[in-house]
Amino acid sequence: RAKQGGGGHPAFFEASMGKSAAESFRIERELRAGIPRGELRLFLQPQFSAAGEVVGAEALVRWQHPERGLVPPGVFVPVAEESDLIVELGVWVMNEACRLVAVADAAGLPLALSVNISPRHFRKPEFNSWARSVLDRTGAPPERLTLEITEGLIIDNVSDVVAKMRELSALGIHFSIDDFGTGYSSLAYLKRLPIDELKIDKTFVQDAPHDPSDAALVETILAVARQLQLKVVAEGVETAEQAEFLNSRGEVVHQGYLFGRPAPADEWLARWAADAGA
Ligand code: C2E
Ligand code: MG
Ligand code: MG
Ligand code: MG
Repeated sequence: RAKQGGGGHPAFFEASMGKSAAESFRIERELRAGIPRGELRLFLQPQFSAAGEVVGAEALVRWQHPERGLVPPGVFVPVAEESDLIVELGVWVMNEACRLVAVADAAGLPLALSVNISPRHFRKPEFNSWARSVLDRTGAPPERLTLEITEGLIIDNVSDVVAKMRELSALGIHFSIDDFGTGYSSLAYLKRLPIDELKIDKTFVQDAPHDPSDAALVETILAVARQLQLKVVAEGVETAEQAEFLNSRGEVVHQGYLFGRPAPADEWLARWAADAGA
């Protein structure tokens, strides 16, 4: 994970693990000042059906730092999650994502976006009313929005989380479990939650063609998804071999460098608009 960091930036921005307290503090201070200055950027990574059609995209935040360049989320999201700064970040991302969905919709593009939601943000009592107000204000159709949550959210306060999820899914919003298989929760909770999708973590996807235990894990996730009638997205598909492995085992949406890297939202939108017009 740390290797996603930096690309030639000072050590400060390279290691996402083992940052010193001073470094974390500096990141927090600069990000807190940077968000209102407009330094966040929304990147999108497309998701493809097995037939090769774009069926959606994941919104992935970046930080355009004035001196250090484009900073990946592995560096600052964990720091932001230590405080309510993650709420500010999440507010910006959701506003931007819903704005894009509405702009695309007005241009005749039924863009479906997945947005990562931090547990700390989701647990806020006002999360649902806030989410609804963003949809109202932007005019984004709720059914174009998927909220990616993690197993960690579900571990404590399950009934509260389930109630909030039910309320939002009644509006049309979809839910996905991100990095599925890496958490500690039991499978039993899956039945209780109004979820639509499982995202297989990239570590399993990447090793599945060669590692029998990863292969078994992927097959199990696909079997569970079939039973519960959930959509499956595979993240981190980098090779044709990985894509073929997945396609031979079930119906999977692909997200990975093999098909498309995260790029600025405007670039993807312009491209999709051109494709749709052609
Ligand atoms: P994630 O939600 O699991 O996102 C998938 C990550 O895998 C992204 O990293 C994506 O760029 C990367 N990826 C996609 N395809 C490939 C591939 O083929 N190979 C490899 N090696 N990597 C691939 P990214 O953009 O660096 O984001 C890292 C994490 O930061 C995300 O993991 C998510 O947990 C968090 N994050 C990103 N944006 C947001 C956000 O807006 N809000 C919150 N709360 N977290 C975010
Ligand atoms: Mg995600
Ligand atoms: Mg993921
Ligand atoms: Mg992941």
